[in-house]
Amino acid sequence: MRSPVQDYWNRPIRDLRISVTDRCNFRCSYCMPKEVFGDDYVFLPKQELLSFEEIKRVTEQFAKMGVKKIRLTGGEPLMRQGLPELIRQLFTIPGIEDMGLTTNGLLLGKKAHDLYDAGLRRLNISLDSLDSDTFGQLNGRGIAPSHILKNIDLATEIGFEVKVNMVVQKGINDRHLVPMTAYFKERGVTLRFIEFMDVGTDNKWSFEKVVTKKEILMQLEEHFDLVPAEEAYFGEVAKRYRFRDGSGQIGFITSVSESFCSSCTRARLSSDGKFYTCLFATEGFDVRALVRSELTDDELYDELVAVWTKRRDRYSDERTEETAKSRKKIGMSYIGG
Ligand code: SAM
Ligand code: SF4
Ligand code: SF4
Repeated sequence: MRSPVQDYWNRPIRDLRISVTDRCNFRCSYCMPKEVFGDDYVFLPKQELLSFEEIKRVTEQFAKMGVKKIRLTGGEPLMRQGLPELIRQLFTIPGIEDMGLTTNGLLLGKKAHDLYDAGLRRLNISLDSLDSDTFGQLNGRGIAPSHILKNIDLATEIGFEVKVNMVVQKGINDRHLVPMTAYFKERGVTLRFIEFMDVGTDNKWSFEKVVTKKEILMQLEEHFDLVPAEEAYFGEVAKRYRFRDGSGQIGFITSVSESFCSSCTRARLSSDGKFYTCLFATEGFDVRALVRSELTDDELYDELVAVWTKRRDRYSDERTEETAKSRKKIGMSYIGG
């Protein structure tokens, strides 16, 4: 039995977010603005992506370190061909107890059944508004919310546990908080409000554009009777509230207003095999080079342990307007949230 691996601040490693592609069929203004990710933008060539075998081998080492939960993300993860096969392979790894996938939902109509057959049960689907103009502009592709809503219904019918993620920005979609909440309350689907974050360098973030949990709650409490729910487990990221009438719950990801670095147990692996110890990291550790070298599994494990043991990240605890502006951070579409 190996001893638990902890970072400099005694945080274990529990969750691994794996980005399986840097490509996306949306151009969300807060993530991959189309002025930056235009037709001439160069995405990673296939040989630079980790293969499924390589992802599996790296994940095995992470599982030995303590990772129990995996989240597949992107770019848009459903654009990676053969994803159900990867899911099957990852479920065979000893220690992996749980897997989820975050998607914009556009391709779910075609792919949901195969994902379910591969064993996946949990989906986070991103949707920022029920209003066609707002959503079409936000996703940068003019896609109507009806496409995503149809696929959310399909996923629920198939049997997935679905959560919906809404990134809230001041003056953009904060007037849609109540209709979104009412819509998903009626369907028993958990809606989670994500505070707009200063990820990457392209999304023109500022504190003024953030709508905090407190502000969202104030709006919602005028229409819904909400009670705070207990933390389900140590390090739970979402702060949850239940509807008093028993018709489900909502959640908040308060990365800006109430940071949660002290219990952050998340590691991230980019599609080209860089290991990041924080969403706001400036540099990653090149795991692909190691996987493609002569290193044994035990040597690979030792290298990953050495990175985690040195980890001191607590960016959100220390965020200021200055760090948000001046620090060179990796992009959200590259690291996957
Ligand atoms: N393409 C998939 C999707 O949109 O669900 C997965 C990748 S996306 C980067 C993961 C999550 O990050 C999405 O829920 C998205 O809304 C969120 N996100 C992207 N940029 C963000 C930002 N600047 N602040 C807060 N959340 C953001
Ligand atoms: Fe694509 Fe997701 Fe980023 Fe939107 S948030 S651009 S869907 S990766
Ligand atoms: Fe974890 Fe970094 Fe986010 Fe803090 S800022 S919660 S350390 S990913």
